[in-house]
Amino acid sequence: MKYVSTRGQVSPIGFIDAVLMGLADDGGLLVPEQLPKLSEDLLKKWQKLSYPELALEVFSLYVNEEIPRADLKKLVDDSYSTFRHEDVTPVRRLDDGRYVLELFHGPTFAFKDIALQFLGNLYSYISGKTNSIIHILGATSGDTGASAIEGVRGKEGIRICILHPHQKVSKVQELQMTTVDDANVLNLSVEGTFDDCQRIIKELFADVEFKHRYHLRAINSINIARILAQAVYYFYAYFRLADQGISEKVHFSVPTGNFGDIFAGYLAKRMGLPIDRLILATNENNILARFVQDGVYQPGEFRGTHSPSMDIQVASNFERYLYYLCGENSQAVTSFMARFKAEGRIDIIGDALKQVQADFGAYSVGNEECLDTISEYHEKYGYLLDPHTACGAAASDKLTPPGEVTVVLSTAHPAKFDEAIQLRHIHQTYPEQIQALFGMPQFQRVVGGTNEEIKKELLTFF
Ligand SMILES: *Cc1c(COP(=O)(O)O)cnc(C)c1O
Repeated sequence: MKYVSTRGQVSPIGFIDAVLMGLADDGGLLVPEQLPKLSEDLLKKWQKLSYPELALEVFSLYVNEEIPRADLKKLVDDSYSTFRHEDVTPVRRLDDGRYVLELFHGPTFAFKDIALQFLGNLYSYISGKTNSIIHILGATSGDTGASAIEGVRGKEGIRICILHPHQKVSKVQELQMTTVDDANVLNLSVEGTFDDCQRIIKELFADVEFKHRYHLRAINSINIARILAQAVYYFYAYFRLADQGISEKVHFSVPTGNFGDIFAGYLAKRMGLPIDRLILATNENNILARFVQDGVYQPGEFRGTHSPSMDIQVASNFERYLYYLCGENSQAVTSFMARFKAEGRIDIIGDALKQVQADFGAYSVGNEECLDTISEYHEKYGYLLDPHTACGAAASDKLTPPGEVTVVLSTAHPAKFDEAIQLRHIHQTYPEQIQALFGMPQFQRVVGGTNEEIKKELLTFF
């Protein structure tokens, strides 16, 4: 399997190079040159596999011989042995036939662990094979940073530096990052906003000499390895419903920000998994919901919400979907993206828009509606949703036709977002792993938001 750029200007590269490249050198995103198509027979066989076995099969299709199967198996087994649930991503049935796919049983209680546990081990493996130190640099609004740090802490050949906006992440997120005392982890708490952090990272990566000298690598959701890891649980969840003899149409509702998670579902569908519709749930930052409804992709005004991990205006993985929507035509993608840069919008019309609406349903969830959904599920089903998952549940309730089934992806444990839960006077008991973080010493440096200051910190750390 080779990988190409959505903009067509990168000659085909292998899996490891694609992982290391992150963003494609021509500014596009890397995609498989050709998607594997799975037969019904193969899917039947896969239905019997455990989560790690299934992940191994999915990855095998995309890695080829670049990583020997025994090594790949060890990477996968190590990555999912850190999960607290034996199913890794269990499917829960609520009382009246609603289904929740719980993706938060990893070390940091958010779904990003599923991809970042694997990516951390993969980076460490690559570092060993290439005999070089990998420096990971990233910015986070909360979940990615905690998850990425947990994925690489204490691992040989890797150093990680994560920037987060000072006192602008949830308390649990801050503690998850800053109570880590491994020598290969540096937390910089930046005076400024998440956007400031992201801008600094972007500019440091654009400094090509600096980037190459320190082998700087990214961990954001444009990395193809993250998407592949996330495709696995769509298969896994579909099979668990099939085990129960469910023969209705199956939809998935996905709390969406950067479009990575839902794109993984789209990929699974294109590989042949008979998913019906993907329901795209957004919060009040609803660029993607507006796109599905009227074909206009245009950032709106930024809104603060109860689901901060979805507070995103420009979805970094959207270009991958655009590529398939254009029939894998990289020239068309390039001209759409050029127009987006120049005019700040993309318009999809006619048959292409019909295709978008066949692929996705979409619903944008208001702040009050999000909290109402948390209260409703708590009262009716005795099930506590975190505010991101609540957006997925609200969208599912709006868009699931009678007699059909939707699986709501639960992207975080409610304990991570207690600030929102408390607004509805619901008291939860924290899992012991989270409770234990309070009162632990914190390791972070508070720094000003300039490139020079960050660079200085990095040079000392590297
Ligand atoms: C990152 C995140 C999302 C959004 O996922 P995307 O892949 O960016 O669409 C949703 N919920 C939680 C809790 C997250 O951390």
